[in-house]
Amino acid sequence: MNPATGPGTASRPLRPELSVVVPAFNEGENIDALISNLVPVLEECVASFEILFVDDGSSDDSLMRIMRFAEADGRIRALRFSRNFGKEIALAAGLDHARGEAVALIDADLQHPPEILKIFVARWREGYEMVYGQRIDRSTDGPIRRWLTDRFYRLFRKFGEIPLPEGAGDFRLMDRKVVDALRQLGERARFSKGLYAWVGFRSIGVPFEVQERLHGTSKWGLQKLTRFAFDGLSSFSTLPLKLATYLGIGISIFAMTYAVSIALRTLIWGSDVPGFPTLVVSVMFFSGIQLVFLGIIGEYIGRIFAEVKRRPLYIVAEEIGGDPIEKPEAVPLRVKPRARAHP
Ligand code: UDP
Ligand code: MG
Repeated sequence: MNPATGPGTASRPLRPELSVVVPAFNEGENIDALISNLVPVLEECVASFEILFVDDGSSDDSLMRIMRFAEADGRIRALRFSRNFGKEIALAAGLDHARGEAVALIDADLQHPPEILKIFVARWREGYEMVYGQRIDRSTDGPIRRWLTDRFYRLFRKFGEIPLPEGAGDFRLMDRKVVDALRQLGERARFSKGLYAWVGFRSIGVPFEVQERLHGTSKWGLQKLTRFAFDGLSSFSTLPLKLATYLGIGISIFAMTYAVSIALRTLIWGSDVPGFPTLVVSVMFFSGIQLVFLGIIGEYIGRIFAEVKRRPLYIVAEEIGGDPIEKPEAVPLRVKPRARAHP
């Protein structure tokens, strides 16, 4: 019997009950531990499953280790990206290629405890279409990162188009319906937390404690995080653009009042020509402000440009392992990149 299918999926034998998508970028040291923790949990809570690794252009032995497991176990598969595309894109690829009735996302570094998946599955069977892990505390992050994260969420709560649930990240389980909805959102700047919230569906949070990273260090530097935060704000809010309008209105009112006061003064006391420093300072100040907002507008235009180019989100260099089953019946929603052989 095909081990990727079980009695629970008899009506549609080609889909495992659960797919677990694992993005991995240089996680060689964590792969063995992850699989040996994950497999027993899955065997216990679902009838059939597949583990789909997305190797995000790792330069270490991640892929080799995954391949070893995939050879021995048809339930373990992998996609190899042609280069590093980033976690958000790796997750998108995972959702595109997962075949399960439900799809769970989990980090490769064991910061997301696999046992929580049992609760996810239970909630899903109760009828929730999206079950997300809600981190109880962020003590595994540094103080600066925690502070910045906190600021960001406050800002987003105030100005974003949609409310983000507190402490929810990528660790979650989604029903096939949700996955198919997410796959229709082909945005390049992927702020997935926002996308999850945007698609809606019956959702519930499951609190969990984030573990320490098993090996290695986080791949999110400050720069990557800042970029991500701006992606988030700019894809779900036009506040940065509106700021320019508000500030412009405010400054114009101030300038008009000032003009009136100068006119009155000239009428009453006659004209003199002081205030040269004021002139220089104000000219510099306002050109500064203009440049800042030109920059912000430029960011939006850059994003519009990136979207209209309609490049594929990612390039899969190789698909590894998995039982030879028919392609999932869901038609690919995006034009698949044609892998071109380089000489
Ligand atoms: N990851 C990835 N591509 C990247 C960076 C990270 O696929 O460019 C994966 C990484 O292997 C891990 C998950 O995303 O499985 C979370 O990454 P990390 O632990 O570095 O982030 P953090 O836990 O600090 O948010
Ligand atoms: Mg991590």
